[in-house]
Amino acid sequence: MGEVTSFDPSSQAHSNLRDLREMLLYELEEVTAEAGEAPYRARQVMRWLWAHDALSIDAMRDIPVRLREYLKLNFKLGLLKSARVVRSVDGTRKLLLLLDDGAEIESVIIPTVARTTLCISSQAGCAMACRFCATARMGLIRNLQVSEILGQVLAARTKCYEGERLTNYVFMGMGEPLANYPRLSRALTIMTADWGAAISPRRITVSTVGLVPMMKRLMTDFQVNLAVSLHATSDELRDRLAPVNRRYPLAELLDACRRLPLNHRSRITFEYVMLNGVNDSPEDAHRLLRMLAPLKSKVNLISFNPFPGAGFQSSPRKLVEDFQTILLQGNLTATIRESRGQDIAAACGQLYAEGSQE
Ligand code: SAH
Repeated sequence: MGEVTSFDPSSQAHSNLRDLREMLLYELEEVTAEAGEAPYRARQVMRWLWAHDALSIDAMRDIPVRLREYLKLNFKLGLLKSARVVRSVDGTRKLLLLLDDGAEIESVIIPTVARTTLCISSQAGCAMACRFCATARMGLIRNLQVSEILGQVLAARTKCYEGERLTNYVFMGMGEPLANYPRLSRALTIMTADWGAAISPRRITVSTVGLVPMMKRLMTDFQVNLAVSLHATSDELRDRLAPVNRRYPLAELLDACRRLPLNHRSRITFEYVMLNGVNDSPEDAHRLLRMLAPLKSKVNLISFNPFPGAGFQSSPRKLVEDFQTILLQGNLTATIRESRGQDIAAACGQLYAEGSQE
C-alpha cells in the first residue's frame, strides 16, 4: 500500500515568487547580471537544479553566498509533495502528488526490461471529456505550472530504485498536454536543453486527443514524438467517444498529420483503445488500415482499462489479436500495449485523483 514521505519544510507554499525551476538560461543570466555576478554562474545554478537535483538554493555550495541570498529573495524552489506512492505487483509505481493549492495529480513510473518510462500529467483533471477515460470525469481543475510538470520528473527520480534510471517520458498522464501548450513548451525546452535536464527529445512522447493547431506548433517547435489518440474510424463514433472530434473531425485531423514536419520522427503513433463491441470489429480494422495508408504511422492498440461506472468493456484478447493481425497483414505496424499497474488504478485512463472522489 501507500507510503508516507515527509514534506519539504523549505518549500514556500502559496508564495508569489517565481519558481527558479521555471527559468530559461538566458533569463537566469539576466538575473545573475542584475546581481552583479558573471554570466557563467547561471549555468552553474542550472547544473545544481537539473544535474544534481538540488533541493534548496543553499545546497548550491559553489555559488557565492551573495548570489544565493539574491536568489532566495527573488525565487522560490518548490518541490512537489509526494503524498503517497502506490506500488503495483508488476513494478509500476503511481505517485500521488499534492500541489500547493490542494489540487492532486498522478505520475506513473513504468519499468520494462528495456526502459523505465515516466508518465507525466499536464493538467489537474481534463476538459476533453473522452467517454472512456476516468480523468475526464473530474473535469478540468486547472493547468499545471511549468514547475509542476517538471517537478514530476524530479519527484519520480527520487522514487527510482537503486540502479534504476528514467529513460523515457510520455505525456500520457492526466490532462491534454496541448491544451496547456505555453507551459508544456517551456517544460519541454527545459527538459531537452543541454543546460537543463538534457533529455533527448527522441525519448519524449506527447500524446494528444487531436488539437490540430497545437499539434502543428508542437512539431515545429520540438523534435519530440507525437502520439494521437484516434480510437475510431468514423466521425459518428469519434464524436461520441472523443467529443473534441466535433471541432477537429477525422479528415482534418488526418490531413494535419499528413502535413506535419516529421524529420527523423519517421512515424506518428495512433493510439486506439479497444472497446468491446464498439470499435473492435474486423471492419473497423480494415477502415483503420485505409485511413492510415497515406500516413507514416504505427498503431498502438490499448486494451481498455475499466473503472467504476465506465460503461465500456475491454475487448477479448482474441479480438484484439485478430484486429492486430489485419493491420499487420496490411503492412501497418501495430503493437498491443500491455496494460500496466491496473491493480493500483495507474493504467491508461484510470488516473483519477483520489481526494476528488469524496
Ligand atoms: N489527453 C491525451 C493524453 C492522456 S491519455 C490524449 O488523449 O492522448 C493517454 C492515453 O490513454 C490516450 O490514448 C487515452 O485515450 C487513453 N485512455 C484513456 N482512458 C483509457 C482507458 N480507460 N483505458 C485505456 N486507455 C485509455
